[in-house]
Amino acid sequence: MTSTMSIGEPPAIVRFITRTYARLVLAAFALVPAYLIGYLYFFQDRTLTFENHPFHEVAIAAATLEGLFVTYVTWQCYRSSGEPLLRWMTLGFLGFVLIYALHGAFTGLAHHNMWLFLAYGPASRLAMSILLLAGLLSYRRPEDPVERRAGLSYWLLWVAAFLIVDVLVALLAHSTMASIAPLRLMESAALTLSTLNIAVLMLRRIRSPLMMIYGISVTSFALSSLAFLLGSPWNHMWWLAHVIFASGFFCLSYGVVQAFLTTRSFATIYSHEELIARLADAKARTESALQELQRSNEKLEHLAATDPLTGAANRRHFIERVEAEMAHAQRDGAPFSLLALDLDNFKWVNDAYGHQVGDKVLKGFVLACLDAIRPYDGVARVGGEEFMVLLSRTSLDTALAIGERIRAAIASTTFASEAGRNVSITVSIGISQYGTDGDTIDALLRAADQRLYHAKRHGRNRVAAV
Ligand code: GH3
Ligand code: MG
Ligand code: MG
Repeated sequence: MTSTMSIGEPPAIVRFITRTYARLVLAAFALVPAYLIGYLYFFQDRTLTFENHPFHEVAIAAATLEGLFVTYVTWQCYRSSGEPLLRWMTLGFLGFVLIYALHGAFTGLAHHNMWLFLAYGPASRLAMSILLLAGLLSYRRPEDPVERRAGLSYWLLWVAAFLIVDVLVALLAHSTMASIAPLRLMESAALTLSTLNIAVLMLRRIRSPLMMIYGISVTSFALSSLAFLLGSPWNHMWWLAHVIFASGFFCLSYGVVQAFLTTRSFATIYSHEELIARLADAKARTESALQELQRSNEKLEHLAATDPLTGAANRRHFIERVEAEMAHAQRDGAPFSLLALDLDNFKWVNDAYGHQVGDKVLKGFVLACLDAIRPYDGVARVGGEEFMVLLSRTSLDTALAIGERIRAAIASTTFASEAGRNVSITVSIGISQYGTDGDTIDALLRAADQRLYHAKRHGRNRVAAV
């Protein structure tokens, strides 16, 4: 005996705990830099330094190149999705690169003008944190119109603004205000804004996978600002701060690349749960559309095969059925017969009672025929008041009997009552049989027609089989 017991879903509480665990793990992961900062802060001698100018220059040159590439990819995503968040992110990366590059470029001046060398770091992080916060506040806002995305002047204006920041930073470094204080102020502002960014992200309960990556990255940016505040030039905390920022940058660029490779938008990358729900939804819709299509197809097939006035099969469908029947007959030698029916003096019915009554009679004629034949023999309307019946597996004798039955039924039926007069009609019928009268459709139709006219010539309201 096979067991039909189902395994069943685990209790809802398990799901709740699992989800909470996933969130905690994510938070713990985002805070990894904090552990490193703590470790260094409590266990490392703060006077230890590693001053290596070429290393600093090369690292920042690489960061600049990477930053330009990421800016370009983000811009491409923005151009295709128009998402305001991606516009702000493009600006954030661009601003960061254009300001931070000078921190690398002025490495050689570290001893001549330390403020000029140092100030571009916090300035670049402050600019980026402002732009990223603006981006988060625009999350899920309607997409920008296409004209706006295409314009170059917008970007050039921002490039100019970043270059002005570069000049202002240089002026600050050369002014009497040049000291550690304004640098710390900028770094603290960057830390505050990044923290605010994370707070907004959590308060708005934004949880799509890419926004999680965004959140981890911004946490790294905040922690790198903290490390810069705790460090001093060339010591290990200062280097660690660089590494933390770089890891945040890598992380966010990974998110951007994922967007680029998929939907080109940050908001419409879905979680697995959402994807599965959407997939199920799409599948259900496809299935219902398919059923609808099948019904329409059946309807179309019916329409294509049917005479609209009487509901009888049309000529095309009738010919198809005869062809199929011929194939049968060729295979197993069973005979079949055709009846050609033409209403007698139908023109007169129209003339006497009007065309509408004529139509009514035609419909009634088909119903009366169907009553008189076997359920599987169909009636086809092949002309105005001309019909055919296919009698499968029927020899001429039986066909003659069925034809006679139809003729008698029609002659005894009243089709309509008009102006106190009953409308009655008669029908003439010609019969042909597959084999004896030929083995092509043309030959069979010709033979049936000839006999029909024979019946007409001999007084109508009769069946002719020879
Ligand atoms: P016969 O006994 O020789 O067949 O005489 P008939 O009047 O039936 O022959 P004829 O072919 O001259 O006329 C056929 C008539 O059928 C003419 C036409 O007005 C009528 N008819 C054809 N199609 C329709 C239709 O769809 N509705 C109506 N009301 N009349 C039709
Ligand atoms: Mg006719
Ligand atoms: Mg007729």
